[in-house]
Amino acid sequence: MAYLDSALADIERKVDSGIPLSMEDGLALYRTPDLHSLGRIARRQKERKSGKKVFYVLNRYINSTNVCFAGCTFCSFAADEFKEPERVFRMTADQVFAKATETGTNFNQLHIVGGHDPRQLSLDYWLPLMRRFKSELPYVQLSLFTAAEIEYMAKRHRLSFPQIVAALKEAGLQNVNGGAAEIFADRTRSKICPNKVSTENWLAIHEELHRQGIASNATMLYGHIESLEERVDHLIRLRESQERSPGYNAFIPLAFHPDGNELSYCGWTTGLDDIRTFAVARLMLNNFDHIKAYWMIQGLKVCQVALHFGADDMDGTHGLTDEEMIYHAAGTHSGQYVDDREFRRLIEEAGYVPVRRNSTYQEFAWDWTPRELVEA
Ligand code: SF4
Repeated sequence: MAYLDSALADIERKVDSGIPLSMEDGLALYRTPDLHSLGRIARRQKERKSGKKVFYVLNRYINSTNVCFAGCTFCSFAADEFKEPERVFRMTADQVFAKATETGTNFNQLHIVGGHDPRQLSLDYWLPLMRRFKSELPYVQLSLFTAAEIEYMAKRHRLSFPQIVAALKEAGLQNVNGGAAEIFADRTRSKICPNKVSTENWLAIHEELHRQGIASNATMLYGHIESLEERVDHLIRLRESQERSPGYNAFIPLAFHPDGNELSYCGWTTGLDDIRTFAVARLMLNNFDHIKAYWMIQGLKVCQVALHFGADDMDGTHGLTDEEMIYHAAGTHSGQYVDDREFRRLIEEAGYVPVRRNSTYQEFAWDWTPRELVEA
């Protein structure tokens, strides 16, 4: 095999032998000029994991409140209830349920994200709402919260991490979104999200979720003030966490978006940085099954190319009336809605087989409907 960069030959041998890559390997992958070899190695690793399958989910997405006092410097979404009341929104539990079901009930995942809102982020609000979803839509997996939100509720109710996780599990929580990981390294974390869950607690909460049988995903926010070393360090910490307490399904690289926040001067990530990050993640995270290219963030076109650089998941549809606000506030050019026919077309054009999934990667026929479940 010809390499433009001979360092990749050693790395490929390690990948083929299942040896975890080191910090130096990760940096070499990020810096290599040999983009084609990088893509080829990452694609082979992806195909070892999931063959020709590329996954997507029929999903509903809701931002339930934007009230938040955490003050993360990269955030364009949060609103301070006292300083900018005109920007505030906060949905009641009935409004969340109505929103989730207003365009039909044929979906397999409900994804809800909100701020640290003292009037919403409590077990009194969430447990009854979660039970209602599980009772009326039992086939819909609840993919809720981040570790930051779980820590907030644990403090509020004076519960330990095992206790809060048990309470959420009892009410139907099946998957936790991977947000709030940002960058684990203290140097950067203390500048971009000093009031948010610490790295130690983020990892401890996810590991407790896994111990109690709740799946989760993991993310990394890249393209702001972090260094390449900190990106690779982040990936190694996730790999070690998966070793200690398996249960992460997918890793999702989140590209920083600059509109309307304190880090605007960092600008946009480039297409090449996005593509490299998918490939490096696929190769560093040898114990993660899935790397997700989330179309809302890098855009459909980059995400389709990412399928040749290690990604095997494109996330999913949103409902026709869903309104993603976090990335749209920060300037994403992605629309709000993509239907599943478009996902299948993009995946097939890339040479892969589209597979409909739920949060925990159970597979469904593309035309599966809840009626089949009821009849069965
Ligand atoms: S990123 Fe999340 S926790 Fe941080 S300010 Fe925005 S809404 Fe709040």
